[in-house]
This record gives sequence, structure tokens and C-alpha cells, in this order.
Amino acid sequence: MPEGKEGARVNRRILVVEDETRIAEFLARGLTADGMTVEWARTGPDAVKSAGSQRYDLVLLDLVLPQLNGLAVLEHLQLDKPDLPVIVVSARGDVQTKLRAFELGARDYVEKPFSFDELLARIRVHLVKPISRASTVRVGKLELDLTTREARVGRSRAV
Ligand code: CA
Repeated sequence: MPEGKEGARVNRRILVVEDETRIAEFLARGLTADGMTVEWARTGPDAVKSAGSQRYDLVLLDLVLPQLNGLAVLEHLQLDKPDLPVIVVSARGDVQTKLRAFELGARDYVEKPFSFDELLARIRVHLVKPISRASTVRVGKLELDLTTREARVGRSRAV
């Protein structure tokens, strides 16, 4: 049973989408050493296929990929798995590409060359704090939406 640094049982599954073997292996080694399970997709279509058929907790996505580029992969993932956090890891550092990635649902963007420790820290942020729909607190009939700060009783809005 893999143990995380906090001693909690973890089985985080990370999909690494990267066509450069050297970088993919570097990422896989580091993430595995941290107790994560890593799978590797080399091409855009492989990434879309894997993400659609398997459960992952997070995707690390390169942008310049064979057959289908990373932005197109993001578009697919946004439609198929909107709750799956994607961190773009790319040598492309222009603002336009970054903005496009965020528009398409990327949660974060790390430029290559990257510091593994920084990337790991960012991965952890997205793993422990998933942006999900589960931002409501229910107390009896009262439901609080922590995102919109609305309160509801049953189906009617109270505040
Ligand atoms: Ca690449």
C-alpha cells in the first residue's frame, strides 16, 4: 500500500501526456517516487482515449504532440471529463497560448524547463483542492452553496 508524505493512503493516478521519452520518464520516476501511479500517453489521440476509458486524478499535458495537439486534447477533455484537473506542461511560453489553454479548461500552466519540485507542489494543490460541484454544505433542509454564497431551503432560495 503506497504511503503519502502525510501517512495517508494515496493512490493518485496521473496521466502524463508527453511525446518526449526523456521527459516522460523523468516525470514518471519522480511522481512514482512520491507514491503516485503514472500512466503515459505519447500522442494526442492516445491521451483522449486513455482519459476517456480510465480514471485519473490529474493530467499533465504537453502541447506539441503528434497527431492531435495538446489544445485539441484539452478541448476533448473539457467535454468528456470537465472535473479532471489538467496541468499544461509546455515549452510554449507565449501569453496567447497560455490564455487559450486556460479558456479550454486548464487548471494550471507550467513552462518547460520546469522545476520538478514546483510542478509537484502544483500537482498537490490540484489534488487536495479539486474544483468540483461538491461545494455545498447541507444542514437539515438548509443547503449552503459555498461558491455562489447562496442558501436554499428545499428548492427555494432563502438568501
Ligand atoms: Ca512535445
